[in-house]
Amino acid sequence: MLDTFSPAAIRIDRPGHVFGASVDISVLRLDEVHPVISGNKWFKLRYYIDEAKNTGKKNIVTFGGAWSNHIVATAAACRMNGLTSTGLIRGEEPAQLSPTLEQARQYGMKLVFLSRVAYSEKHVPAEFDNDYLIPEGGYGPTGAMGAATILDHSSGNYTHYCCAVGTGTMMAGIINASSPQQQVTGISVMKNNRQLDDTVGDLVLAENKSRSWQLLHDYHFGGYAKYEPSLLQFMNDFYRETGIPSDFVYTGKLFYAVNDLAGKGYFPHGSRLLLIHSGGLQGNASLRKGTLMF
Ligand SMILES: *Cc1c(COP(=O)(O)O)cnc(C)c1O
Repeated sequence: MLDTFSPAAIRIDRPGHVFGASVDISVLRLDEVHPVISGNKWFKLRYYIDEAKNTGKKNIVTFGGAWSNHIVATAAACRMNGLTSTGLIRGEEPAQLSPTLEQARQYGMKLVFLSRVAYSEKHVPAEFDNDYLIPEGGYGPTGAMGAATILDHSSGNYTHYCCAVGTGTMMAGIINASSPQQQVTGISVMKNNRQLDDTVGDLVLAENKSRSWQLLHDYHFGGYAKYEPSLLQFMNDFYRETGIPSDFVYTGKLFYAVNDLAGKGYFPHGSRLLLIHSGGLQGNASLRKGTLMF
């Protein structure tokens, strides 16, 4: 589906004050996969798109908010695959579309705005009955199966995989693709989302139930898409030291968390970590200009 696609794991080998602990850190740059279908979204979408095409569906319908990485990625992926798309968007139609929705529309996505109540009920209007539905955020076994292929692009011998967690689809895929000696550490970007253990666990295949994984809930910075000045400061410091940009909803919280955990000795001496840079940089456009240095 994407012909120019070669993400590389880059090593962070300048132990400065960021990641200054005795662990070896690499970052898998999925943010460089594609300018729009960035990060984990292409992986989560790939088998949904295949299934839609194989079952003769013409239009894909999915859910998301005004800044949703999933919405814009779905719009672009459908366009590239000769499918049309409809985004069921949370909230009333605004006077001015967010850059995310503007871009989705440019990729041909039809936007249908649902009231917050209708949205929370995830009711799909009857006119889309014959279309192919992708759940919000790509959550589901098909999404996890695609996410598992993320690790096809990592060749190192890692002790830990670390990723940010929203719906848990990506993390479940990585757990399914991990081997028994490896650990998968997920950083929840939501506040007190204690259901996550179940939502991730539900997508872990029966043969992988004994894999080692843990979710950490202390790095949400106030909740989904919330932040504090210390997070933005860290993201700028991290960029200055590594040249790697991050987003404030997911990957900024991941890098902050791993840095903090490494400093506290959470990872055993000599651990080799692969951090999944899952993309999402377009969402930074919702911040005031100049907040981030990249
Ligand atoms: C969607 C997204 C995630 C979360 O993936 P889930 O599979 O929903 O847990 C993480 N990082 C970025 C940048 C994302 O856009």
